[in-house]
Amino acid sequence: MHLDALSGPLPLQPRHTESAVLPASCEIAVIGGGIIGLAIAWRLAKAGHEVVVIDPSPGQGASRVAGGMLGATAETGFAEASQVHHHQVSRQAWDPFLADLSRDLEKKIEYAAIGTLVVGLDSSDLRAVNHIAAFQAALGLDVERLDRGELDVKCPGLGRSVVSGWLLRDDGAIDNRAILVDLIDACGVNGVRFVSTQVDRISESRHGARELTTPIGDTSAKIVIVATGAARLPELPLASPSLVIPQVHPVAGTIVRLFGSATVPHLDYTVRSLVYGRPCYLVPRKGGSVVLGATSVERGYDLHIDAGGLFQLLEDGRKIFPALDDYAIEEIATGLRPTTDSHIPFVEEVDQGLIAALGHYRNGFLLAPATALRVADLVLSGKRDAR
Ligand SMILES: Cc1cc2nc3c(=O)[nH]c(=O)nc-3n(C[C@H](O)[C@H](O)[C@H](O)COP(=O)(O)OP(=O)(O)OC[C@H]3O[C@@H](n4cnc5c(N)ncnc54)[C@H](O)[C@@H]3O)c2cc1C
Repeated sequence: MHLDALSGPLPLQPRHTESAVLPASCEIAVIGGGIIGLAIAWRLAKAGHEVVVIDPSPGQGASRVAGGMLGATAETGFAEASQVHHHQVSRQAWDPFLADLSRDLEKKIEYAAIGTLVVGLDSSDLRAVNHIAAFQAALGLDVERLDRGELDVKCPGLGRSVVSGWLLRDDGAIDNRAILVDLIDACGVNGVRFVSTQVDRISESRHGARELTTPIGDTSAKIVIVATGAARLPELPLASPSLVIPQVHPVAGTIVRLFGSATVPHLDYTVRSLVYGRPCYLVPRKGGSVVLGATSVERGYDLHIDAGGLFQLLEDGRKIFPALDDYAIEEIATGLRPTTDSHIPFVEEVDQGLIAALGHYRNGFLLAPATALRVADLVLSGKRDAR
């Protein structure tokens, strides 16, 4: 299984011009139009570069399935302590990122910036949640303990077992599908061309350019950016001894999208919880929908939805927010989170004019602005040292 494994069934409907014709050459080719490739393409086009995005189905892949949480604090656990600064920088970069995007599209693009609630279901969950919150507080992150009364004021209708929790004030959430459409549109506004095919092979650099081989022909690019998510990489030149791109593994995650009519209780806050040790979250969207996520299974390029995982997810979701019983199921989807062995994203120039932006794992949305700036920096100012 290759690209099919990453493509969701429903197309986004952005207003960009997609072509099945490759230009003979271009300045920058971005391979992959998920949140990472699109953010990079848009940034580079805004800086005046000629950019082509090559992807058979941009805006699909893991990015289409994600919860869209900007969990700079929640995603900083013990294993991620070294990433705390990077998480914070990228979280803060979302405001200018959206301001720029709003200007390009001449509309106000907003996101949920009121914070995230973290709760635990039983006393063991709560001890774990308290332990991590204390660690986050020690790192200087903005976490505030809330008792049940305070939780009820912010978020009426939590399950009866929830006795206390935390407000992570700096964590936000973005509508993943809306922002993908907006980025594709903003790429179009800035002259990015989209070519609907997949890259099978990237050649060695010759005379300052590389050939890209696709099923519809070849093109050459001075700079090639590989942002292919969890998919297998295109074939790379073996002759470059310096060329080191880490293995990217897929970690499957299933979400359920549910819709609550005007008569049922709604959430204002993203709620993350441990439910008997299992992580679970609910991310509200404007208009009454909520994203319930997510399972996490390493089983290769396999997008099937297990009944058992789904049953558990729905069961855990209703324990946190019982009103979920009255919601209608809109969609069930699985995506493949792209991760490196270290779970740390790899954003480097690996060979002259060949940049990899891979392995964003659980945080592609949180980290997209920082990755786009980092790649722009690599391309624009020649600062090509390791992060
Ligand atoms: C269930 C789930 C929940 C998540 N929740 C969150 C969250 O709340 N917050 C958060 O920050 N992150 C979240 N993530 C993680 C986030 O979705 C990923 O980190 C992010 O989408 C990765 O983006 P990407 O652009 O690297 O990959 P993708 O979105 O997978 O895009 C890769 C693109 O590359 C294209 N491609 C692949 N190979 C080729 C090729 N050879 N030629 C041309 N094109 C190619 C594909 O068609 C695809 O469009 C979640 C992920 C999952 C699965």
